Amino acid sequence: MAATTMDGAVLAAKVRARVAEEVRGLGDVGLMTVLVGEDPASEIYIRRKHEAAAAAGFRTIDRREPASLSDADLLALVDEANRDDAVDALLVQLPLPGHIDEERVARALDPAKDVDGLHPLNAGELALGRPTVVPATAVGILALLREYEVELEGARAVVIGRSAIVGKPTAQLLLAANATVTTCHSRTRDLAAHTREADVLVVAVGRPAIVTADMVKPGAAVVDVGMNRTESGLVGDVDPGAVDVAGLITPVPGGVGPMTIACLLENALRCARFRRAGAFIPAS
Ligand code: NAP
Repeated sequence: MAATTMDGAVLAAKVRARVAEEVRGLGDVGLMTVLVGEDPASEIYIRRKHEAAAAAGFRTIDRREPASLSDADLLALVDEANRDDAVDALLVQLPLPGHIDEERVARALDPAKDVDGLHPLNAGELALGRPTVVPATAVGILALLREYEVELEGARAVVIGRSAIVGKPTAQLLLAANATVTTCHSRTRDLAAHTREADVLVVAVGRPAIVTADMVKPGAAVVDVGMNRTESGLVGDVDPGAVDVAGLITPVPGGVGPMTIACLLENALRCARFRRAGAFIPAS
């Protein structure tokens, strides 16, 4: 029997509607994005984020800077946005051009405006089990698993990928939900031996078909985070054959992608609340 589809588009629409209602309640909420350079994929992501934010009632500020922008000038721009009362939430689109130190930029963000949850303070609070702003993709993955009533407590969860923006925060949220979590990466030996044990399998690598049907435990919940542009269009990291083995699976497109944008808006709202409360509020 084919796996049940975990429909990110449907859940994202619900999240966005809830966010829009709360934005109306707060009045003016400003989300600023900064795009450095002209990476075509980043341009698409920024456009989608602005469209979604505007539809939810945010006031959006779209800063575009040339790829030649210096490290110092980007840090100055971040500093200016940190001090600008019209900016509740700030996003610097990654990847940045090679000459810019992404870690330094993340450190320069006001943690209370850090909508991507990349500042070390936000990443550290998550690691300590006191989430503040958590990277939106990880939040979206957990929301999808909860929506489809996937049992997490005591479940064996395997996350493939350990990036700061997806793999690590997802593993930490699964741990906080009392799953027994294994993180796999490029140096993991015998990846399939790990994935075959997983009741919950999250794949965030960026390589088509890195997970094939024979690597999936029958009945598992599989979350495919990968977004790979190929000649046959956008594909994930999980081979389509896995649909016949998994119990639940996210499609690509229409799974994690829409949830990332919806949860980014949720994060922007959270940042706006931080500012109004004058303090961090732990995420529920
Ligand atoms: P990333 O920073 O490149 O991280 C990829 C991870 O995969 C790394 O931890 C890497 O291990 C691991 N990896 C590479 N080859 C592997 C292998 N052969 N076996 C096991 N692990 C391997 O990428 P990312 O930013 O996390 O994104 C991952 C994918 O998700 C990409 O396709 C991206 O486009 C997509 N994505 C989708 C959304 C969405 O909304 N749907 C959001 C964000 C990202 P090492 O650490 O050892 O190098």
